[in-house]
Amino acid sequence: MNIAVIGSGIAGLAATWYLSKDHRVTLYERAPKIGMDTHSVEVDCGQGGVHLNAPMRVFFEGYYPTLTQLYREIDVAFEAIEYSGSFCRHGENAYFHYKNYSFRSTVLPFLTGRSAFHPRALKLGIELVRFLRRAKNYRQFSADETDALTIQQYLEQYGFSKDFAESFLYPAFAGICTCSYDNIKTYPASIILAYLDSGLTWSRVNRLSAGTHEVTGRLAAAAWKVRCSTHLKAVSRSADSVSLTDEQGHTEEYDHVVIATQANQALKLLADARTEERSALARFQYETSRTVVHTDRSLAPSNEKDWAPVNFLMSDTHDRPMASIWMNQIYSRLGTDTNYFETWNPFHEVASDKILIDASVQRPVVTQDSLRGIKQIDKLHDQPDRRVWFCGSYASRGIPLLESAVVSAKVLSEKLSNN
Ligand SMILES: Cc1cc2nc3c(=O)[nH]c(=O)nc-3n(C[C@H](O)[C@H](O)[C@H](O)COP(=O)(O)OP(=O)(O)OC[C@H]3O[C@@H](n4cnc5c(N)ncnc54)[C@H](O)[C@@H]3O)c2cc1C
Repeated sequence: MNIAVIGSGIAGLAATWYLSKDHRVTLYERAPKIGMDTHSVEVDCGQGGVHLNAPMRVFFEGYYPTLTQLYREIDVAFEAIEYSGSFCRHGENAYFHYKNYSFRSTVLPFLTGRSAFHPRALKLGIELVRFLRRAKNYRQFSADETDALTIQQYLEQYGFSKDFAESFLYPAFAGICTCSYDNIKTYPASIILAYLDSGLTWSRVNRLSAGTHEVTGRLAAAAWKVRCSTHLKAVSRSADSVSLTDEQGHTEEYDHVVIATQANQALKLLADARTEERSALARFQYETSRTVVHTDRSLAPSNEKDWAPVNFLMSDTHDRPMASIWMNQIYSRLGTDTNYFETWNPFHEVASDKILIDASVQRPVVTQDSLRGIKQIDKLHDQPDRRVWFCGSYASRGIPLLESAVVSAKVLSEKLSNN
């Protein structure tokens, strides 16, 4: 069959790869290069180039089995990194700082620096252990039972302190989910518990060895054609085909179309959206934020001794944390002469001569309503006459990450091929 995939983020790339095994796939992307690698830069540090991406996307096997399997199938190398963290108020010393020590494939986090002996840090650490143990107990309940509880309600119900919630859990997950404190508080508890229960605390976190461009190159190579710089404006159906119209008004016909954009963009594209499609796609809300790769140390903790690979900084005047990743710790080839950071939600402007990448990114927010939307999309995909399909990090259960995007692509590819 002739299939079009719209969007070349990881979801569209994975759908292209899975579907190309049996079909002829054309991959469309509005950006000039493959979407997953749009915001990237090559830094030359005298020891060969280092390919940096914004956002830098890390993964660990416990939570990312499908992504890891895909990376193995396409034979891209990945490697473990030291991904420990620090938490501080902006301009102050860190109050919680841990370092991961590796023993073979297992990692053990220990408080480090001033945190190691500070009663407040010890208390936060003890609460974290209690939180992780309780997360395991949650496995015995069904998702329907646990989705109803928000993480804020969960923390209150089980007597976790305000300090644990506001100084550790909310900042950490507002960072991981790239959203505001308000939105993280209403995240279904089940989603956060499942993430922590998948072994993050004890696992080695990985990054791609060569960089994202190796993944994009191998996945996109499966396509029959790749059409970058093609902004599609409308998807409409006839009895036995689907047509795509680009911004120049050109139209092309396909047997099936996979929309691998964000849900809000998919809704705009579907010229003839049916009521149940509108209802499903409208359930996904988004937050826009900014990710900057730069060399401005003022966006890192003020005390250099507190610098960790991942640093969460909080301020009373901001509704979300700033997260600064110290890239030299992740890519040793960056050396030590210049410090490189990737900062999500910079609290203040970065001097333009210190910016390497400046990206505006959208992230879905998981709510009880969005979980209902996923079930609705699954039902749509079971319709026998279906020709328009949806995938993306929003379209599968879990935190919207690479894993949920690849899972949604894999599931729909199997359904489409059996349709
Ligand atoms: C700050 C930050 C940090 C993150 N860190 C991690 C991490 O460490 N690990 C992890 O697993 N995930 C991480 N993520 C999440 C991860 O980046 C996303 O889950 C993933 O990239 C989403 O992929 P996707 O294919 O669903 O969507 P997208 O990447 O958004 O792809 C959609 C594509 O569709 C294209 N498109 C849209 N409309 C059209 C149109 N009309 N015509 C043609 N093309 C169109 C877009 O240009 C885009 O390329 C992070 C996200 C952020 C914001």
